Amino acid sequence: MCRHLAYLGAPVALAELLLDPPHALARQAWAPRDMRGGGTINADGFGVAWYPQGGAEPVRYRSAMPIWSDAALPALAAATASGAVLAAVRSATVGMPVTETAAAPFAEGRWLFSHNGVVRGWPGSVVKVAGRLPVQDLVTLDAPTDSALLWALVRDRLRAGVPPADAVAEVVAEVELAAPGSRLNLLLTDGAQIVATTLGHALSVRADSDGVLVSSEPLDPGAAWQPVPENHLLAATASTVHLTPLGRS
Ligand code: GLN
Repeated sequence: MCRHLAYLGAPVALAELLLDPPHALARQAWAPRDMRGGGTINADGFGVAWYPQGGAEPVRYRSAMPIWSDAALPALAAATASGAVLAAVRSATVGMPVTETAAAPFAEGRWLFSHNGVVRGWPGSVVKVAGRLPVQDLVTLDAPTDSALLWALVRDRLRAGVPPADAVAEVVAEVELAAPGSRLNLLLTDGAQIVATTLGHALSVRADSDGVLVSSEPLDPGAAWQPVPENHLLAATASTVHLTPLGRS
């Protein structure tokens, strides 16, 4: 299962999230500590997207290769700073393709999205749910994976103007009903707010005067990290964090 993170706050070099800390995302890729429900290594691609200074739309860099094997990443990550970042490393669910477009972040406009988990009974369990999407969205999915469909479901609601926390909570509820036992840790940002869920996987948050960092696993042994309880929705800005039990947001 994947590992992911999102950051909002004072600009940091991407390396400070992906590579440098003792348990940075690149280390979580091959030595995760809390992979609930199986999976050992996140070698099936990675992605990072960051918002440039000045309010432009995010820039995305993805690959189907393991994060540790990308020779261009260390220099890129050291030279690029941003105050809003979403990144993920992927462990493909059995039967799902290993391809760049299946790696998060999924993106549209200012939105970035990632999924850590699995939709049980894919794809049959969610055919009805998917059938409510515009056909155009179904034939242009980023990849034939559960995560890409979850993104299409969230994106459909965002396009309709549904607030992000509601969009995410609704999709979790809908998919959980159709595919019980699914693991649905979703992560969404527009560069100003983060929405995340815990359903089946680990998530921690660190909030301090520099900003907010939400990550599958803490990046360092610092005491400021708090585990996000299971079955919760987290909504954060650079200076606020709210937790609500899922189903009651
Ligand atoms: N089911 C997702 C995929 O194959 C996996 C996401 C994860 O947590 N590994 O893309």
